[in-house]
Amino acid sequence: MNRHPQKPCPLRGAIPRGILIMALMPAGCPAEKAPVTPDLIAPGVYRIKGSRSNIYLVAGKTLVLIDTGMKGDGHAVLEAIRGIGRQPSEASHILVTHGHIDHTGSLALLKRETGAQVIAGAGDRDFIEGRRKTAAMGREGFGGKLFKIALYLMETVFFKYEPAGVDSALMADTELRLSDVRVQAIATPGHSPGSFSFYLPDKKIIFTGDALTGVSKPGLPPRPGCADYAQAIASVKKIARFAFDISCFGHGEPLRKNAADIIQRLLQQKGC
Ligand SMILES: [Zn+2]
Repeated sequence: MNRHPQKPCPLRGAIPRGILIMALMPAGCPAEKAPVTPDLIAPGVYRIKGSRSNIYLVAGKTLVLIDTGMKGDGHAVLEAIRGIGRQPSEASHILVTHGHIDHTGSLALLKRETGAQVIAGAGDRDFIEGRRKTAAMGREGFGGKLFKIALYLMETVFFKYEPAGVDSALMADTELRLSDVRVQAIATPGHSPGSFSFYLPDKKIIFTGDALTGVSKPGLPPRPGCADYAQAIASVKKIARFAFDISCFGHGEPLRKNAADIIQRLLQQKGC
């Protein structure tokens, strides 16, 4: 269960929420403490609520992590693994939805502590491995420019990013067999060039990263957070064609039933 529900922000709606969160962080806004007991989404699928984003854990014969949260969230992830009666050394793979530091901040630590192989989109590899800064990634509009400044401060000053090696870089849609966990990696660029979503056909669950948002309510990705908004919308349309009941977002609450139908309606409502 989640013991630390998010508090409503008094400035909600004044500026895009993603930018607000990023902008407040360097000012010392305290991070929420992540719970040790993860939230059960479906049999063998858990959500670990990180300080700023979601981390997911798929437990089969092996353990598969999806994203790693911010720097500082890694130890809560290790505790959560132990909390379900498993060991960090059982984690064989870490799937990275995209190379933003609120999803890769604990990647280096978790790779080191588990020995897991890292799988991520080739388009974000340079960012994950530290050859390029996330702040250098394109962002749309004036809001996007503010976002880049906040990111630059974060990754260079306040939450200095520790790069991690990518063991397998995905170029296109790929079927992955990770022990008994079957995963379809789906290229969903737009939020970032190398964004991927991960679909579990046996459980009818999709992990979208930031290709969609669950903050406040399910929604299309905010334009200022996107490297290429048109591409991001095309990716949402691609996601909506898969047969899933549950959608797990990088931020906010998962959609726990009829998720594909709801996302299709969302696109129709927005005229996409
Ligand atoms: Zn992101």
